[in-house]
Amino acid sequence: MKNFIVVFSLLTLFTQVAQAQFPKMDFFGPPLDIPLYLSGNFGELRSNHFHTGIDIKTGGVKGKNVLAAADGKVARIAVSPYGYGKAIYIDHKDGMQTVYGHLLDFNDEIGKVVKEKQYREESFSVDFNPEKDIYVQKGQVIALSGNSGSSGGPHLHFEIRKGIKPQNPLKYGFDIKDNIAPRIRGLRFHPLSPDARINGEPRPISFVVTGSQGKYSMRNNGAVSVSGDFGLSVHTLDFLNDVPNKCGVYSLQLFIDSALICEQKFDELDFSTNRHINCYKDYEVYRSNGWHYHKSFIEPGNELEVYSPDVVNSGVLNNLAAGEHEGLYIINDAYGNKSELPFSFTVIPVDSSATYTKNFDAYFKWNAPNTYEFQDEIKLEIPARALYSDLQFVFGREMQKPPYETALYSLNNKHIPLDKSMSISFNISHILPDKRSKLVAVRFSPEGYRSYLKGSVNGDIFTVKSRNFGKYALVLDEEKPELKPYKNAVGGTIPARGTLYYSIKDEISGINEYRAELNGSWVVLEYNPKKSRFELIIEDTAFLKGANSLVISVQDAVGNEVEESFNYTF
Ligand SMILES: [Zn+2]
Repeated sequence: MKNFIVVFSLLTLFTQVAQAQFPKMDFFGPPLDIPLYLSGNFGELRSNHFHTGIDIKTGGVKGKNVLAAADGKVARIAVSPYGYGKAIYIDHKDGMQTVYGHLLDFNDEIGKVVKEKQYREESFSVDFNPEKDIYVQKGQVIALSGNSGSSGGPHLHFEIRKGIKPQNPLKYGFDIKDNIAPRIRGLRFHPLSPDARINGEPRPISFVVTGSQGKYSMRNNGAVSVSGDFGLSVHTLDFLNDVPNKCGVYSLQLFIDSALICEQKFDELDFSTNRHINCYKDYEVYRSNGWHYHKSFIEPGNELEVYSPDVVNSGVLNNLAAGEHEGLYIINDAYGNKSELPFSFTVIPVDSSATYTKNFDAYFKWNAPNTYEFQDEIKLEIPARALYSDLQFVFGREMQKPPYETALYSLNNKHIPLDKSMSISFNISHILPDKRSKLVAVRFSPEGYRSYLKGSVNGDIFTVKSRNFGKYALVLDEEKPELKPYKNAVGGTIPARGTLYYSIKDEISGINEYRAELNGSWVVLEYNPKKSRFELIIEDTAFLKGANSLVISVQDAVGNEVEESFNYTF
């Protein structure tokens, strides 16, 4: 009993700490009418973006009531097979806006407006500001939660924005429990000058970190020696009570010999710089292992505003005296739970006898336009500020072999992030003019994953835009998309309610456009790319009593088209 009381008062203390940091406010109410457990939080590091909201669990199912978090007016409604899927944006007073994503369905009033818009535009995807005012009250059901768009499981994506900038929702006093301190898993040393070495190596080295409950240390007290300019990064995650999901931390501070070197904090994000996450984290480790190392040094092209003004020398350590030094990481979550990682390292003088061989084909400045040409076969153009730091560019060429229409070109086949698209132009004078419109670029990532990019043809030149380095070649796409009805949609008598499914696949360039007509008139056909299928909801579609004819046509990105018709009795 005594232990119980101690635990209880500790919890109370934690709650008080949390309230002291983020005072409870009642402006926003909960966006769901079930207890709030998170599968993702604000500032969490994702692929090409920081997460700009919180992901609230819906018990693994769709169809939970989604509530307006405050009184307001519907500002925007969107439907898409990708991104936020079905989403509602509500404006509140004082320039605040809330966003509700991955919805299953809208309430009747909003749903009617969406359907009208879809039929007027003859498009499943719509994104618009309602013409007539739709007012909502705090706690009113506006939608049902779902899994639409780029969502990996049923949940509600909820955002709070001030103007257009997403805010950390955990600052607004929602009833979410977290008394678990962030976990620290690794510490990484990065050489940042040509003569820099970490334990004698010219590449970054990670060290395993162990510990629990806020106290962490380097395993085996890892002996680290550094020379030249270097920086540090840390692999850390947060966990919330009662759920296993990995979340993001709120703030990080790095101290060297008790002096603050770098500090970042996630109160607010900005969509215009959200892709800069790729230079915020260690991109190479993320792309090869999926681990999120937060760097405590700032690349020249990094425009994120999450850093404290007190950051010293952009976090680059370049003037430490030879000998032993003490470092300390302090990591906090949004509820004031704290973890600490003390560590030590030895600075040794730069080895001036070491020789550095040139092993690159061109040197690209991050803030200037760069071009690279190989004979008259291929030309690469990278706009200024597409790179976040200077690049030692490496080019390679492999002989052409089937099914490629060109050689396979290696354009810096490493994990280097790009903020803006580069343009890659291929000479296609050897390809018959009537075949050229069917050309597509194929890209292999450093691990060998394939993706396809549509380009444009101008005379003897084929150009694609891409934000990824890798290996590139051109291929021809002359295959039609493959459209097949599920068993329940082959034809014949259909029930009064339910969904008809059609599997849709396109091997190379991918689905670009599609259209469904029932008895000669356009109807809503939902595209679900996660399941590679079209979905037709019977009760939402104007089937006639008796015989009906449904025609579905689909085009891939280079215009190969398939058209199928189905006869249904209703
Ligand atoms: Zn989300």
